[in-house]
Amino acid sequence: MRTLRTIAEVRTALKGARRDGRSIGFVPTMGALHEGHLQLIRTARDHHDEVVVSIFVNPTQFNDAADLAAYPRVEASDAEAAANAGAGLLFAPSADEMYPAGFATSVHVGGPSERLEGASRPGHFDGVATVVTKLLNIVGADVAYFGQKDAQQLAVVRQLVADLNIPTTIEAVETVRDADGLALSSRNARLTPADREQALALSRALRAAQDIVASANGAAASAEDVLAAARAEFAARGIAPDYVELVDPTTFIPLPAVDGDALVAVAARVGDVRLIDNLPLTRNGSH
Ligand code: AMP
Repeated sequence: MRTLRTIAEVRTALKGARRDGRSIGFVPTMGALHEGHLQLIRTARDHHDEVVVSIFVNPTQFNDAADLAAYPRVEASDAEAAANAGAGLLFAPSADEMYPAGFATSVHVGGPSERLEGASRPGHFDGVATVVTKLLNIVGADVAYFGQKDAQQLAVVRQLVADLNIPTTIEAVETVRDADGLALSSRNARLTPADREQALALSRALRAAQDIVASANGAAASAEDVLAAARAEFAARGIAPDYVELVDPTTFIPLPAVDGDALVAVAARVGDVRLIDNLPLTRNGSH
């Protein structure tokens, strides 16, 4: 696997592949790679001739300077893990390469960016949309892979790619979890053992919501019932969640009931770490 630092090098490296009709799969990340990221890379490897992974801790999507400073940076071990999972090219640019002096553009996606994470983290999705637009333009992949773990980011990226006619297909990869249900996240490394136990509230809340949908036996479970069950899991652990919501998975508008495709989304601060998780639901149970 080759590690490249500049945009020009990436374009040069991929020119031949594109000319020869070799398909390119792309996995954008912020590094500190775990099994969730590796699953995205393996999925890309299974479907493409060339697999490009980017590692860039994008400063413009952090609305909290302490979170940016604490974000783990372990490029050497990431490079080894990415290569083993099937990456052929690692793009790891500096902040100056991505945002040179004079940079003056921000991409704002409306619609699905407005609520939940968008409301909790002002400016976050503008930073995400701007860097994803740049990365998709730099790599020019056939398909880019994003995790279901960041469901709202996925919806924002889908909206962005459709609205701006970016010729890369967006594919989602299911959330990878630890055996006890905790969704893998680079931020989990900052949880103390006690925090980690409390953090199970998120996945348990999702499971409780799913159980309500399943017990409705094909009827449309109400948001009230679904969310009450989810909130009870937070209350049982003494955690006040940032939000517990039932939304449309494309628009992120709240739904009154699980009557078709829906998503239960949760966020909570546990110790020093803000965690998010979600679960797609359908009228007959989870996907
Ligand atoms: P990040 O490095 O946190 O920006 O994540 C890079 C990509 O990996 C994003 O598309 C995430 O949604 C995805 N991802 C992060 N955690 C997981 C997980 N537990 N399972 C599946 N995908 C994930």
